[in-house]
Amino acid sequence: MKAAQISKPGGAIELVERDIPEPGPGQVRVKVEACGVCHSDSVVKEGLFPGIQYPRVPGHEVIGLVDAVGEGAKPWKTGQRVGIGWHGGNCGYCDPCRRGNFFACQINLLTTGISFDGGYAEYMVAPSIALASVPENLSSVESAPLMCAGVTTFNALRNSGARPGDLVGVLGVGGLGHLGVQFASKMGFNTVAIARGKDKEAFAKKLGAHQYIDSQASDPAAELKKLGGAKVVIATVTNADAMTAVLGGLAPNGALMVIGAPTSPLSVEAIPLILGQLAVKGWYSGTSIDSQDTLKFSASNGVQSMNEIFPLDRVSEAYDRMMSGKARFRVVLTMGG
Ligand SMILES: [Zn+2]
Ligand SMILES: [Zn+2]
Repeated sequence: MKAAQISKPGGAIELVERDIPEPGPGQVRVKVEACGVCHSDSVVKEGLFPGIQYPRVPGHEVIGLVDAVGEGAKPWKTGQRVGIGWHGGNCGYCDPCRRGNFFACQINLLTTGISFDGGYAEYMVAPSIALASVPENLSSVESAPLMCAGVTTFNALRNSGARPGDLVGVLGVGGLGHLGVQFASKMGFNTVAIARGKDKEAFAKKLGAHQYIDSQASDPAAELKKLGGAKVVIATVTNADAMTAVLGGLAPNGALMVIGAPTSPLSVEAIPLILGQLAVKGWYSGTSIDSQDTLKFSASNGVQSMNEIFPLDRVSEAYDRMMSGKARFRVVLTMGG
């Protein structure tokens, strides 16, 4: 099979021929149809994650067909279309797992494309627990980004504590944010998109935003306050200052939910947090059932990722395009054949 691998931290993405992997007990082999290229793949490329064994095939936004089922890998059957996202598995018996906090597994937390080879390849093998089933009326290409960008925004919003009708802000309308705005408005939130520049307003409204705040032309916190204060703002940007700039716009008991990953620390004033009982909270993407819920919700409510599509042969170009930040809005590899 053809696969794209990284041989060492900081190395190039190499297209190589490999043997088609065999699924072990509890594992499933998937013939990959599409795989999203996510900014988090850069942790493999640059060696930013502890303990990665190289060579490694990245890719954690995978859609394909079940092709072989290992011993006891329930409930999957060959021919089923499935997705594999960031959460690649957990032990099931450590204390956090026993409390249902699978993202915090202490014994065997697996990340697709990091702990084991991912979807930048014609075939991959994954633990059966990592699989989500894909609705028939979603194409593989349009489903792929929902396995990371989608589930992260969907799951953060549905666990945010906001209720239908509440004012919910989505900070940023890029790869994550363009999905976040759609999910927020389809979930019935009074949705306000916050981004830099007047030019994104029409687009944000087309995605379903009821209001738009240009954070370049005005103080986003003051504008949110004018609208009554936001119950929740989902921060999808990678700029720490842009995140903290909206804190003053939260309603009492409001929360800033961080899902974008700035490299610099967030600096937060304590007094407004105390007086407003505000929270700054992170959110992990989700497990396979969360991804399955994301796919189903997207199919029934018309949420769509906007994608630039590249064949696997042009993987380096696809990766560079994603890293440039200029892609509109997600980059997806197709395996062809
Ligand atoms: Zn991702
Ligand atoms: Zn565990």
